[in-house]
Amino acid sequence: MRKVTSNPAGRHSDGRRITAVWVVFGLMGVYLSAYIGALLADVTDQLPMFGDWTVSAFEVVASLMAIARGLTQRPRRAVPMFIGLGLLMWALGDITLILESLGGTAPATPSLTDVFYIGFFPFTYAGLVIFMRGEVRRLSTPSWLDGAVAGLGAAALTSAFVFPRIVHLTGASPMAEVVTNLAYPVGDVLLLALAVGGSTVMAGRRKAPFLLLVLGILINVVGDTANLFASSLGRPGYVLDAIAWPASIFVMSMAVWLRARPSDPLRLQKPGTFVIPGLSSAAALVVLFVGNLQETSRVALTLATATLVLAGVRLDLSVRGMRALSLERRHQSITDDLTGLGNRRHLSTVLDAFFAESEQESATPRHLAFLFLDLNNFKQINDTFGHPAGDQMLEQLGPRLSSCLRGSDLLIRLGGDEFVVLLLDADTHHAAAVAQRLTDGLVEPFILETTHSSICATIGASIGIALAPSDATDGAGLLHCADIAMFRAKQSDTPFAIYHPDLDSYGNRLLLLEELRSAIDAHQLVLHYQPQVDLRTGEITAVESLLRWVHPQLGVIPPNEFLPFAEDAGLMGEITTLVLTDALAQSAAWRASGNPLSVSVNISPTNLLEPGFTDLVRDLLHTHRVPAGDLVLEITENSVIAEFDRSQRVIQGLRELGITVSIDDFGAGFTSLAHLSSLAVKELKLDITFIRKLTARDNEHDLDLVRATIDLGHALGLRIVAEGIEDAATMDLLADLGCDLGQGYFIGRPKQAGRLDLAQRTPAANLREALVDARLGAGLE
Ligand code: C2E
Ligand code: MG
Ligand code: MG
Repeated sequence: MRKVTSNPAGRHSDGRRITAVWVVFGLMGVYLSAYIGALLADVTDQLPMFGDWTVSAFEVVASLMAIARGLTQRPRRAVPMFIGLGLLMWALGDITLILESLGGTAPATPSLTDVFYIGFFPFTYAGLVIFMRGEVRRLSTPSWLDGAVAGLGAAALTSAFVFPRIVHLTGASPMAEVVTNLAYPVGDVLLLALAVGGSTVMAGRRKAPFLLLVLGILINVVGDTANLFASSLGRPGYVLDAIAWPASIFVMSMAVWLRARPSDPLRLQKPGTFVIPGLSSAAALVVLFVGNLQETSRVALTLATATLVLAGVRLDLSVRGMRALSLERRHQSITDDLTGLGNRRHLSTVLDAFFAESEQESATPRHLAFLFLDLNNFKQINDTFGHPAGDQMLEQLGPRLSSCLRGSDLLIRLGGDEFVVLLLDADTHHAAAVAQRLTDGLVEPFILETTHSSICATIGASIGIALAPSDATDGAGLLHCADIAMFRAKQSDTPFAIYHPDLDSYGNRLLLLEELRSAIDAHQLVLHYQPQVDLRTGEITAVESLLRWVHPQLGVIPPNEFLPFAEDAGLMGEITTLVLTDALAQSAAWRASGNPLSVSVNISPTNLLEPGFTDLVRDLLHTHRVPAGDLVLEITENSVIAEFDRSQRVIQGLRELGITVSIDDFGAGFTSLAHLSSLAVKELKLDITFIRKLTARDNEHDLDLVRATIDLGHALGLRIVAEGIEDAATMDLLADLGCDLGQGYFIGRPKQAGRLDLAQRTPAANLREALVDARLGAGLE
């Protein structure tokens, strides 16, 4: 491949050449202005510098300047070349006219002069057409129709004025003379039509060079028409043409040197307006109207009729286009861009229609089941794998959910990770079955492509079901009921919940979220502490901090009921900073009162993977002067598995600070002990579900599992904590199995720091101690 390198030397010499050209144009402009002044003052006869030869020389120079542009410009040299040759033809026409008129006699028609003059037209047409083709590659039908209407209208108008004059001129002349005399106005009318039509087609792309070229053409047409009028009136030497011709050549020559400003790709191109074609159509109407009153040229009448016919075709096309556009707009306005499913507007249209119909007395009563589906922890997918991965999941969700529905059911994406399913003529039973099918359909993982690799991700959903008209009689009410039911499903960790008016007592999820935001500032989020005892000594050596929301109306709300929403709303960072600050301040207070205790703090997966989390913990430890060894951070095993590599690095960093990282609810997820060995964790908390049933009869399986986990954990150098100890027997059993720490209602419920009895010793532990003492005394241990 050829390597393109910049050539600064070449660019400089280019710049110098362009400057020289504009200096020449400047001087020519001065000459032209002086010439026009002299013409208007009627003193050209006394000034030889404005004689025929000098003006012709001026024209030749201007033409050669344009040709020079064609010779030096690399791409798109055809335009300046054709325009330059056209101008040269005109200038040569002027020169031959001087030569042919030398004897004082007017040249015959046709003569060599006419050949040159008429030669101007084809070159200029070609230049203009190539110019336009270069700018507008593909022409849509309406756009070329607009150009044709504009051009034809302009042609109709000019020919209405121009052609009657020709009748005067041609009279009973021989054929060759008639044809020659006709060639000029026809050439002009065509050129004007092309310039006007072209300007319409180039709407939005009309840049300085094009506009200057069109201006030059218009000046030329004005000159020709003035000349024609003068001739028909038998008054040769009309000043306007003497001004117009050199001026037009000058302007057109400059046009090919002008450089268009590069278009701004960040700006949308303005659509063309119908102003020029509209004016042209009006002009055509005027021509036809005048044609009714007085004799008008047939050419003009034909052109005017053609203009209006084309304008009619264009109008028809516009009406069709508008109809298609409004259908498309309507489709777009009710479609969700990402999934292609119906959107919120679609939903409200359908619901409005449903309720409007059911209000009619004659209507047979119909039922509608409304399923509101909200994904669980979707924010985690976005935060962990990035938004493109989240979008892919939503895209794949559409077909996945649809496959669980009948063709007549309606699936809508309400926004974010919320979907709605409408089931017509469905009862609670059917709606519940569909809800179950929908959540079952999500079990299979989604394959998402990230920048680095493909990942397998699963997602759950909570569905709220409401029925119309029994639960609500309008769309907003139905959504409200389904939202409350969904909230309940999420809180109770079930796939779906059916709306019941009792559920309303907890209020609206959105309202709660709004309140949660202000609750943080209003210090309504408080920490309770649950003691952990050393199962060997029975002493309280640690506490776990557990968050509560002391709501002014609803009372104490447990963390599982508001933390999932805080997570979705992105409030988790703020909450964890608050929890860490309070817990460390409390730890420092205990240490100061001579009761140093290790404090466990629960951390959500989003916290752990937040950049700067380790620094935050280090700073807070420093601020409260708490030794890192007194802090335990609890994370759930599933969150670690979801982003193993990143979590591994953060855990390592925390461990290096001296902090203990603990895996909470161990056994409830899928972490294998093999995984654990590669993590810098120091503690395992056995899940509450194993512990609570541990002493039940026929529970050998759980007992074996707990025993094996404790042994394997110890082999890996981990401290084992059992939570959910509700009775002495369980505590005893765990102590026998070698478990290190115990936590549970039997030992102590979570309480505010001031209400904890840190000096307490649990009876079972006392018993055990006594037993140990007795055994020691008997020399058994
Ligand atoms: P977790 O960390 O596994 O906490 C243990 C949960 O079990 C606590 O529920 C505790 O009150 C309860 N519990 C303790 N002993 C017993 C017992 O003997 N029997 C029974 N049935 N339950 C017992 P809580 O306080 O409702 O907290 C629930 C979960 O909320 C916690 O589970 C933890 O995952 C999360 N959580 C609590 N506070 C925070 C926090 O500050 N930040 C984060 N990210 N999560 C928190
Ligand atoms: Mg915990
Ligand atoms: Mg736990």
